Amino acid sequence: MTDRIQEFLRSRTEDGPCLVLDLDVVRDNYNAFSKALPDTRVFYAVKANPDPQVLELLAGLGSCFDTASVVEIQQVLAAGASADRISFGNTIKKERDIARAYALGVRLFAVDCEAEVEKIARVAPGSRVFCRILCNGEGAEWPLSRKFGCAPELAARVLEHAHRLGLQAYGLSFHVGSQQRNPLMWDSALRSSAEIFRDLAERGIVLQMVNLGGGFPTKYLRDVPAVKAYGEAIFNSLRKHFGNKIPETIIEPGRGMVGNAGIIEAEVVLISKKADDDKVKWVYLDIGKFNGLAETMDEMIRYPIKTAFDGDTLEPCVLAGPTCDSVDVLYEKDPYMLPVSLEIGSKVLIEGTGAYTTMYSSVGFNGFPPLKSYVI
Ligand SMILES: *Cc1c(COP(=O)(O)O)cnc(C)c1O
Repeated sequence: MTDRIQEFLRSRTEDGPCLVLDLDVVRDNYNAFSKALPDTRVFYAVKANPDPQVLELLAGLGSCFDTASVVEIQQVLAAGASADRISFGNTIKKERDIARAYALGVRLFAVDCEAEVEKIARVAPGSRVFCRILCNGEGAEWPLSRKFGCAPELAARVLEHAHRLGLQAYGLSFHVGSQQRNPLMWDSALRSSAEIFRDLAERGIVLQMVNLGGGFPTKYLRDVPAVKAYGEAIFNSLRKHFGNKIPETIIEPGRGMVGNAGIIEAEVVLISKKADDDKVKWVYLDIGKFNGLAETMDEMIRYPIKTAFDGDTLEPCVLAGPTCDSVDVLYEKDPYMLPVSLEIGSKVLIEGTGAYTTMYSSVGFNGFPPLKSYVI
């Protein structure tokens, strides 16, 4: 909680939950990434929080941007970054959208199969492509499964295909899973990357870039290593696997750039018990899975929650959202410890909510409006 956020919330009179995001924290995060990985370009993953003020700040600081759709590309351009600072990093793109991105000046695209390479070759000739390789997501609190990327054995073939079709086979990418708490998890993907670099070099294709993806964590309830530790571990792995031929590198932090910059203020709507002998209380907030806290899915992300009663005795509570959908329960398998003195109408502060909240909020499910956001 920063002083600026505290001050803002003190003067706020509007009803309903809201996110307040402090740009000073985003600036500090950007600088910490630049310092921890001085030879690596930062491509902010826009989807984490595409607020225009966040994009403008980062554009002004010199950041590049990882985008997933034409709308995100337009948002980045509107924020003042030129198209050569944009990567179209989604591996799943309509050919029409690739053409639109190309018309807007974008020349850097992600692929993970030959069919996607063919689309790019048709409508974005001569562009740079990087192939995403699978990562198992081990050690991540929000793993990305097998949806994106191909087996390392396939990547060389995909990039060779790109080369043959007149594209620039530019490099490789991977994502070690979001909220990755282990800085050593980049190592095996970098080992595979180095093998693919060597393999393709033997066939006369010289790759230049490794996209190290996102995964840099935000502190929720548990401590996480500092960005510096990630920078060191990644540099050591690059040295180990690439020797003195370290390629150009980029990172795509989303959560790590904005997560800790935001706080959600919400309100307790109801506290009840389901039976006299129930050991846990049910606490219902005016925010839930559908208006900002989607990442509580499977109780994966556990946010720190502050109340005015911190320091009082705690008791286990099931924490739930306000909608009439029974999946709108935040923490039940592992109940959340909250002060016994918490009351209906009490405000709660949900920390570390600057990433993956506003944009995951439904447009009006059950009549609840999308999460309000104030960037200060
Ligand atoms: C979502 C995403 C990111 C950001 O991941 P974080 O774990 O939030 O840093 C980076 N790169 C790509 C391709 C993504 O899809």
